[in-house]
Amino acid sequence: MPSSQLRAPVSGVMTPLEEVPDEVFASKMVGDGVSIDPTDEVVLAPCGGTVTLVHPAHHALTVTSTEGAEIIIHVGLDTIELKGDGFTPLVKEGDRVETGQPLLRFDQERIIAGASSLLTQMVIANMDIAHNLTPAVGLVRAGQDVALSFDLTRPSSDDSQVRPDDVVEGEPVVVPCATGLHARPAAVLADKARSFSSQVRLHRGDREVNAKSVTAVMTLDVGHGDRVRLSAWGPDAEAAVATLTAAIRDGLGETVVATGTGTAPEAVPTPEPDPEPDLLRGVGASPGLAVGIAVPLTAPDIPVTDVPSGPPEQEWDAFQAALERARRQLAELETATAAKVGIYQADIFGAQRQILDDPELTEPVEAAVRSGAAAGPVWKDTYQQHADALSAMANPLLAARGSDIRDVGLRVLAELTGTIPARAELPAGAVLVSRDLTASDTAVLDAERVAAIVLTEGGATSHSSILAQSLGIPAVVGCDPRVLDLAEGSELVVDGDDGTVRIDVPAEELAEVRSRLERDAERRRRNLAAAHQPAVTRDGHRVEVVCNIGSLDDVRRGMAEGAEGVGLLRSEFVFMNRVTAPTEQEQAELYRSVADLVGEGNRLIIRTLDVGGDKPLPYLPMAAEDNPFLGQRGIRVGLEHQEKVLRPQLRAILQAARTSRAAIHVMFPMISTLAEFRGAKAILEEERVRLDAPVVPVGIMVEVPAVAMMAEQFAREVDFFSIGTNDLTQYTMAMDRGHPKLAPRVDALNPGVLALIRSTVQGAHAHGTWVGVCGALASDPRAAAILLGLGVDELSAVISAVADVKAAVRDLDLSRATELAERAVRSEDASAVRDLLPPINA
Ligand code: PEP
Ligand code: MG
Repeated sequence: MPSSQLRAPVSGVMTPLEEVPDEVFASKMVGDGVSIDPTDEVVLAPCGGTVTLVHPAHHALTVTSTEGAEIIIHVGLDTIELKGDGFTPLVKEGDRVETGQPLLRFDQERIIAGASSLLTQMVIANMDIAHNLTPAVGLVRAGQDVALSFDLTRPSSDDSQVRPDDVVEGEPVVVPCATGLHARPAAVLADKARSFSSQVRLHRGDREVNAKSVTAVMTLDVGHGDRVRLSAWGPDAEAAVATLTAAIRDGLGETVVATGTGTAPEAVPTPEPDPEPDLLRGVGASPGLAVGIAVPLTAPDIPVTDVPSGPPEQEWDAFQAALERARRQLAELETATAAKVGIYQADIFGAQRQILDDPELTEPVEAAVRSGAAAGPVWKDTYQQHADALSAMANPLLAARGSDIRDVGLRVLAELTGTIPARAELPAGAVLVSRDLTASDTAVLDAERVAAIVLTEGGATSHSSILAQSLGIPAVVGCDPRVLDLAEGSELVVDGDDGTVRIDVPAEELAEVRSRLERDAERRRRNLAAAHQPAVTRDGHRVEVVCNIGSLDDVRRGMAEGAEGVGLLRSEFVFMNRVTAPTEQEQAELYRSVADLVGEGNRLIIRTLDVGGDKPLPYLPMAAEDNPFLGQRGIRVGLEHQEKVLRPQLRAILQAARTSRAAIHVMFPMISTLAEFRGAKAILEEERVRLDAPVVPVGIMVEVPAVAMMAEQFAREVDFFSIGTNDLTQYTMAMDRGHPKLAPRVDALNPGVLALIRSTVQGAHAHGTWVGVCGALASDPRAAAILLGLGVDELSAVISAVADVKAAVRDLDLSRATELAERAVRSEDASAVRDLLPPINA
């Protein structure tokens, strides 16, 4: 008897099947095997074989091994109820798969939220062929460790049995189980069928299967209200048909939902309608509401030829030239994106350029070309394989890189073949609907014409999502794939906040949403028209509203949109995307130009370089760190590399301050101790004396909870504080602000964070020191009430929010805001604080 092994389909802790809190699995009705408590989010093939079933709800699938074992993998318990939400199949029925190939991706959070357990079962359904099962124990690694060993006898082909004449035919019966014959009721039916020695068949329409095989029953795809029938032949055929027909009618232990009739109806009752057939769910990736018309997009497929352009040398040169052109285009895109949306977003294309140098991608092409093959097909195969492997990774950040490889791969292929991918002519109000959208496509979108983006793949951290956010285009990713079936021109309502897409929206509701959007647009026009008025509350309290900038162009736009100065110049943009450090002179000129644009008497706060292990600079060697956010970051880097970074930057700022009409201030990032501040300030003073430059105010970012708690001690020495709520929140909550799962919970309205803002203001005001907020919280017009109520003196917002924040301040009453802030600090959580916030000005 040959011995077989199944690899773990997911990583996690082995759990005995008997302990699974679901009778159907625990009693091995579905089959015998193992259960694993998963630690990752992708199911890998436990062996080579063929995918014989992908359940319509995507939570379970069957792989029939080359030796004939039917292996069911069922993710979670009661996960059928999720109706596919949180599952992305990576294979389809009929696909041949290799051991370790990704089969299905699932979202642990959604399963935990909507189902009873994450326990994932791998069982052999045709138990008659598997013996001596030995499960592994302890922790197993997906695709690597053996989770189950067993002996195998070759399956007898039930279907090969010849049907005799004395078949007992049962009456049709309507399936009353709420979710049809999915894994659990199928298992109950098969288990009962196996208690008879007769052959038993289940029929639906003109298809029939062996009723003793769970997998076979599931492949019939029987839904609630469907009509099925049994037949049997053998010694106990009549009893089998009668018992099993009655069992189906009684619901096989499932929740029974009325179907209108118990036995053969005149007409087949229609299945229970989906409770929300017009609502397609996904993940909100870029906020905002939009109404528009569906414009389906498909990724271009660039045909390649097997015939090389000439001898190997010539073909290799042609490939190199294509890489070079792609490199140049990406550099241009990087520059254009930096100017249009910002340096962080532009960096996406810097990272894409590095893909072009990846030997894993280019070496197979070189080897093939040298042996006389054409470059195109090998390049296409290689990048697609790498992209697919990455896309299937459980880590969403790595999975998102799959899309980048595909993006770069296509770009090179277009260059190599001289194909210009056709760009769809977009109508106004277009909602782009696609599986995925590359970062390159997103970066060049016409934001005027694109109302929203809806993708069935991708994640909130994918590059297309980041770019959509920067362009202010609402986006939903990981959307229900039904969206791909929509006809071009269908009207949709896309909600990028809660990640939903509504289809078939009644005309009056569409009109309502349109008028709401129009009211928002009207309010925005009014706010912009009043943008240059000061922000004074109804009871006469003035707040300065300034902006955050990351480029020269930002200053122009910020001042044009009503900013009263610059509350945060993120000087990283001067240092990044270059191979050598900017010279002191270059920096001084740049700061001077910014100061000119900020204008006479207005404040310009220049933050010294804030980089670290998470964002290294090519000319500043920094060791990779396990915890870069808790390591050499911000001022710590400046103090460590004084000569190379901090001193030249401070000298450049001081030089600009000499002639500047704007009030230049220096701000140090990521200060955590007084000693750090004193060290940095002493360096500034040394350089000032050396240059005989004017005294400039010196402040610190409040990003570390210890500083917020010790604001009183700091306030004796610093000239101002600016609270970086982004970092202050991540350090207060101990949640990485960029973490794909935790980031949504890194909410600056958490009462703990608000208490630290209050502590900062109290400590500062005790010494007459002013406090600004330059983290993202300052850009939320609704949060202005809380921040003013806590006593904040300055709000530094992103440019697009300046006019709205000013308008929100004008709508406030300081005394009421103070009461509100007190209640906010005493609230239970961020959502309770959100409930307190006043509505936005109508
Ligand atoms: C902050 O941490 O809130 C902040 C403004 O700094 P950055 O986002 O640049 O880290
Ligand atoms: Mg910060």
